[in-house]
Amino acid sequence: MARAAAALIDLDALRHNLRRVREAAPGRHVMAIIKANGYGHGMVRVARALASADASADAFGVASIDEAIVLREAGIETPITLLEGFFEAQELALIQRYRLGVVIHHAAQLDILEAHPLSTPIPTWLKIDSGMHRLGFAPAKAQDAWRRLKACRWVANPIRLMTHLASADDRHSSQTLRQLECFSAAIAGIEGERGIANSAGILGWPQTHADWVRPGIMLYGVSPFIDGVAMDDVQGCTNAAGAGCAGAADDLKPVMTLTSKLISVNHFKKGDAIGYAASWVCPQDIPVGVVAIGYGDGYPRHAAPGTPVLVNGKRVPLIGRVSMDMVTVDLSSQPSAQIGDPVTLWGQGLPVEEVARCASTIPYQLLCGVTQRVRIIESGERYD
Ligand SMILES: *Cc1c(COP(=O)(O)O)cnc(C)c1O
Repeated sequence: MARAAAALIDLDALRHNLRRVREAAPGRHVMAIIKANGYGHGMVRVARALASADASADAFGVASIDEAIVLREAGIETPITLLEGFFEAQELALIQRYRLGVVIHHAAQLDILEAHPLSTPIPTWLKIDSGMHRLGFAPAKAQDAWRRLKACRWVANPIRLMTHLASADDRHSSQTLRQLECFSAAIAGIEGERGIANSAGILGWPQTHADWVRPGIMLYGVSPFIDGVAMDDVQGCTNAAGAGCAGAADDLKPVMTLTSKLISVNHFKKGDAIGYAASWVCPQDIPVGVVAIGYGDGYPRHAAPGTPVLVNGKRVPLIGRVSMDMVTVDLSSQPSAQIGDPVTLWGQGLPVEEVARCASTIPYQLLCGVTQRVRIIESGERYD
């Protein structure tokens, strides 16, 4: 038998989540963000599902030209935007050949663009830094950058305008409204479509919807919000109250379910220590299950004891340290569980939001971090 660890990918859920974007931001253009291998779900797979007629995205956003070329070589015809633009002049020829759009966020890119006339106009977004202070032109430089772009015959007209939100995942932060004001002041009087909202903007801040929205994490069925995920709520991760922070609260459906199987069950006595560093000691006699999943598969090494795991669809707590290939669970509540029984690490029935919180990280990192050796199985395929 091959290794049991598998990520089940539910493409119907993905399409459902795109419909949720359209419901939440009606009439807006949708640039589906599929960078980082489609947040770990398989970029080409995700692009094909979201390019199909019934639920199609208007554009795709990726981080770099190699991601974009993979999409084009796979036959994806949808417009593609490089969210960080190009990093060097040599990329311009490829951008033209593969019909890609760019984000221009820095004067160094403008210099390159002006020095390299192209034969076809490149669809272009001008990015303004409205307060995130990562990429983008300072507000005071926005009008000048726009004039320089406008003067390039090989920049498609009209130029689009974008910014990125730093704190939209916090519904109580005042930064989002300040960013909105800053952005509109910076581009006042300039014509052209605007794009601001990430997933959190789409679901939590209708004033950010503008002309284009850029959903990422919500497409994969995960809540973008930090609500209710304060670490002090979940000391030791014994608190199972995760529903409030899960995508289900926004009618999103998890696309990835990470699964595996029990490969051993053993009985230990009170006082026996389990796993590396003997860091977890049995408080009484218990059956311990060993699951074929570990940090070598992308399961977070920092998942705390008490992190929920589903065995036969029911919650049991993680115990001991996560190792490369295996984790251990306390099967006291399921004394009849046996080798071969199915295990879910996150996804259907167990929100990845909850697991992320127990590992002091965010769902984005868990989804992107699933490694090469985990089999990917699309819904509908057989997997036993
Ligand atoms: C990654 C990214 C997004 C998507 O963010 P989510 O929080 O996943 O919705 C949107 N815009 C830009 C510029 C990004 O880099």
